[in-house]
Amino acid sequence: MKSSEENHVSNEAPFAQFDNSYARLPDRFYVKRNPTPVSEPYLIKLNEPLARDLGLNPYDLKHHGAQILSGNKVPKGAEPLAMAYAGHQFGNFVRQLGDGRAILLGEVIDHAGNRRDIQLKGSGPTAFSRGGDGRAALGPVLREYIVSEAMHALGIPATRALAAVTTGDPVYRETVLPGAVVTRVAASHIRVGTFQFFAARGDEEAVRALADYAIKRHYPVCSAAENPYLAFYRAVCERQAGLIAHWLAVGFIHGVMNTDNMTISGETIDFGPCAFLDSYDPATVFSSIDHGGRYAYANQPGIGQWNLARLGETLLPLFDEDRDRAVNMANEVMAFYGERFQAEWLGRMRGKLGLLEAQDDDLELVQALLAAMQAGEMDFTLTFRRLADLCDGQPADVLTSLSKAPETLVGWISTWQARLQREEAASAERAKAMRKVNPAFIPRNHRIEQAILAAVQDADFSLFEALLDVLARPYEDQPRFATYQLPPEQDERVLQTFCGT
Ligand code: AMP
Ligand code: MG
Repeated sequence: MKSSEENHVSNEAPFAQFDNSYARLPDRFYVKRNPTPVSEPYLIKLNEPLARDLGLNPYDLKHHGAQILSGNKVPKGAEPLAMAYAGHQFGNFVRQLGDGRAILLGEVIDHAGNRRDIQLKGSGPTAFSRGGDGRAALGPVLREYIVSEAMHALGIPATRALAAVTTGDPVYRETVLPGAVVTRVAASHIRVGTFQFFAARGDEEAVRALADYAIKRHYPVCSAAENPYLAFYRAVCERQAGLIAHWLAVGFIHGVMNTDNMTISGETIDFGPCAFLDSYDPATVFSSIDHGGRYAYANQPGIGQWNLARLGETLLPLFDEDRDRAVNMANEVMAFYGERFQAEWLGRMRGKLGLLEAQDDDLELVQALLAAMQAGEMDFTLTFRRLADLCDGQPADVLTSLSKAPETLVGWISTWQARLQREEAASAERAKAMRKVNPAFIPRNHRIEQAILAAVQDADFSLFEALLDVLARPYEDQPRFATYQLPPEQDERVLQTFCGT
């Protein structure tokens, strides 16, 4: 390993246009720190379309990328720092977490004019490492790359993956694993836990500065509201309600919805033990550390609300100087979140069933299908995809064959078809609309594990590449990749996922 003195500033072109704003915030918001160099950086994957969106030069990144994207060279204009934050982890408050293995290089303005963070994850220790090595293993890096890009392709707000590099250095977990660094791109890395960090220290001035910064960066319209901080809180809750409804609509389980893993921007972040449902069961948990099922599939809307309540607590002094009035305001927003989630979720479920208009008994229709899916242990993704085939006139058994209890479905299908009759739309149009919201391809856990295994054991990245290709167009049938639609065989099933920290 090289010493960090060699970690020099270079003039490499790819990141010529940093425009760092977080580094201008008060000193106590972060600790400056350069990445720690690695032995043998090797660029496994560069996300060229994303690089172009960010105004970066993919050619330069390919040639000098490994040095920069591993942290061996700090590009000109970067002001590397580790952000301070706190967080509730599985309900327990930890006053100080912070970027223990991530370093924010800086911010760029993308082609759409949006400010984006460029962060290395796995780039060595920081002031917040708490005894950890600051490193990431290849497996979790690939998982984050695959799932975050899949989420984006599904149309779900998420941090992005710009690159993955291997470091040439081992990391020591339960076993010795190859080390890697993922470059993460985010609207920002401000979390509920960032507010908690300052609130826990009674640092109201910092909470206000952070809120002002977040409003300016993510919710500029709120600054014109009568009570800008309350409008901001409401806007964050609104985005999270929409986000979590969208997660449920594709069967996504985040797995570790601690307050430090919930963004203020409304992007999905931290793809540690996350996984998608295969067969539908609302109590599904994959994470090896989630013993009580706190972050189970169907608990996510409620946990989202719990986390947002913690955010509200940090903002109370900004809402109103009278504590009781401030609490009432926050509680109104919490009620709003609940209604908003329900409306967003039902809207998405209507779309999945091909219902183009809202009618009174839609909720019951959705619930009856979910109950039949659970009873028949039906694959979540395939069930909805095949509903579109029924609209196209295919026989009912394309759907009932997915169920272990097909008799529970027969009645539902006729109720659903009668309901469709009450709308004017042509079947072909409806089927088309359904295929735009019911993906054919999701990042199935067993596929991710196979890709990781080949990469880690044999340095074979072909499965990783193939998976990325398929998942880039999740709503297209892609007959060539038909097997990627399939749920795992009994012996392929992955029952647990790991944070990999
Ligand atoms: P996470 O589970 O990834 O959300 O991380 C929770 C906290 O643990 C954050 O403060 C991380 O920065 C920190 N952390 C996770 N892995 C490491 C590591 N290998 N070294 C240092 N800190 C870590
Ligand atoms: Mg985290």
